[in-house]
Amino acid sequence: MAEKISVRQGLFIEDAEGGVLLANKCKRCGQVFFPKAIFCLSCSSDDLDEVKLSRTGKLYSFTTSNLPSMHFQAPYAIGFINMPEGIRVFSPLVIAEDKPFQVNMEMKLIIDKLWEQNGKDVYGYKFKPV
Ligand SMILES: [Zn+2]
Repeated sequence: MAEKISVRQGLFIEDAEGGVLLANKCKRCGQVFFPKAIFCLSCSSDDLDEVKLSRTGKLYSFTTSNLPSMHFQAPYAIGFINMPEGIRVFSPLVIAEDKPFQVNMEMKLIIDKLWEQNGKDVYGYKFKPV
């Protein structure tokens, strides 16, 4: 089996229920950032706590491409997910034939293989229709 590596350290953790995205939250003003910010882009405080984002969010917008990209075979989809924490996450989307994308539909986070690189499986996050 190919070695499994994360597309980027510190973006998510895997657990028994799937996975969660790791964000951070400003202790002064409450703004949440994903990916994590080094300091708060709202109030400039550097006092930030790590927080886990919800496992589901609502689809805000999406697009499907019929041309392959550097990493993804066509067709593939990408979009923005509105999270309950008040932020919007950009993510690859899983295309489900029986659940066509619709704005505001509920989407669930999964941790999945994104592509192969130098014989290793590169893992990252995606959202799929619930
Ligand atoms: Zn702040």
